[in-house]
Amino acid sequence: MEGIVKWIEKRAETAPERTALIGERRELNYRDMSREINQTARLLSDQHAVKKGERIAILAGNGVEYMVLLFAIAKLGAIAVVLNTRLTAPELTFQLNDSGAGLLVAEGCYRELGTQLVAGSGLADVLWFDPHGLTAERLEDRISECEGTFGETGADASLPFIICYTSGTTGRPKGAVLTQENMFWNAVNNCLGLDITSADRIMALLPLFHIGGIGLFSLPALFAGGCVILPDRFEPERVLKMIEEHRVTIALGVPTMHDLLRKSPAFEGTDLSSLRWLYNGGAPCPHELITYYLDRGIPFGQGYGMTETSPTVFLLSKEDYTKKVGSIGKPVLYCDIRIVDDEGRDVKAGEIGELLVRGPHVMQGYWNLPEETNKALRDGWLSTGDLVRADENGFVYVAGRKKEMIISGGENVYPLEIEQVIRELPSVDEAAVVGVVDLKWGEVPAAAVVLKERSPEDEGEAETSQEQSRLEEVQSHCMRRLAKYKVPATIVFVSALPKNATGKVDKNQIKIMLEKRME
Ligand code: AMP
Ligand code: MG
Repeated sequence: MEGIVKWIEKRAETAPERTALIGERRELNYRDMSREINQTARLLSDQHAVKKGERIAILAGNGVEYMVLLFAIAKLGAIAVVLNTRLTAPELTFQLNDSGAGLLVAEGCYRELGTQLVAGSGLADVLWFDPHGLTAERLEDRISECEGTFGETGADASLPFIICYTSGTTGRPKGAVLTQENMFWNAVNNCLGLDITSADRIMALLPLFHIGGIGLFSLPALFAGGCVILPDRFEPERVLKMIEEHRVTIALGVPTMHDLLRKSPAFEGTDLSSLRWLYNGGAPCPHELITYYLDRGIPFGQGYGMTETSPTVFLLSKEDYTKKVGSIGKPVLYCDIRIVDDEGRDVKAGEIGELLVRGPHVMQGYWNLPEETNKALRDGWLSTGDLVRADENGFVYVAGRKKEMIISGGENVYPLEIEQVIRELPSVDEAAVVGVVDLKWGEVPAAAVVLKERSPEDEGEAETSQEQSRLEEVQSHCMRRLAKYKVPATIVFVSALPKNATGKVDKNQIKIMLEKRME
């Protein structure tokens, strides 16, 4: 199969003037995008000796340049190692050494971090660029002299294209190896699942160093001949302004982002009528957040994906999103799923089991980790480590992560269920439940809760007595709504939940914190 650069090259012939990418400083139509991909590939091969199969690390914020770079790397048949800009130098040095990257392409604003990486790893070469042209040359200036097409594009779509290190809150990070073919099938699945066409204007809210930023739905939009809008970073006011200005039709984010958007002072005054989908993925979405948007006439959908699956596995369709609030929908077209018990037997409808996924969008494996790969992938089935249940009609609901499941006195306790109950309280902003060691029951649930700002009724009440009454409120609500063994043994109020770069709650950190408080 031909590689993904074909999508752009073909459009450059058939619809050259159509806008492909809109960044904060630059726009590219398909003709110019195709030209820049080619020039960037020339720059990488002629001046940085990049060859097929070589790993090129990218340390940059979202932007037109990032997207062009990814396609240039695809054109060369090289492999992009997309680095999370929020990690520390030692964490990134591990990824550089593990992937054996020879070249780092880095944005000027990360010079300090980038310089540390060069010193600490086996990197042979760095290409600095700066979209603002302040600390280094703009990429468009660097490539301006690089003309001439490649006789042969080295892109065999079945070879590795991206190494994406998974958030890995436990153990060492693993590099999921995804091919251009994986990208193709993810594009097909998303375009068919959400009717993405050339008329769509998709905004990438997630960072492009995360598979969510690439696959939801930037590459699908370019596959369909649509347009991708790329804010530099997630900043609610700017994002809202760009949605209105560019008449964005689809934007996918994690729950934290959807929450920040509605809390922005600009939210009420922004015209969001162009949105045909505001979509959630990546983490469990509180019902209240979904209904908040639905009540305002904004179609709010939810899907499920993971790095290892490029990423989409489930989508909720336009026929179902108002009827199945809280569900992640059904598997996309080219994708099979199973829900199994510990013995690997399919569970019945309504029962919770582990989700297995098979399809042409599933990764090849983890970079240089044959044992981990064999553990994760058996006969083409990927063990997701996530617990889900399907209702009678095949709509799937996430029940939590297998690793996070608490076994208390022999009973299975799902933190997500408890978190959803706690969040029903209007005074609660966020909640995270983890299992903590207990002499009698083995493990018991404990909760870290973030309260909303103090309400006017609380005025005059002392901080501590207010906390005391809130504590009683959470406890009695849990007692009313949950079996006794599910009621958190400890509830601690915190000002914020620790989160990783993609906005996911860091349960390990919460566990450590709660266990400390309980000592
Ligand atoms: P990552 O490990 O960063 O690739 O993220 C994938 C993980 O995010 C999945 O294994 C799930 O645990 C979680 N996830 C993704 N989408 C959803 C969703 N809609 N609801 C709940 N959890 C989700
Ligand atoms: Mg994962």
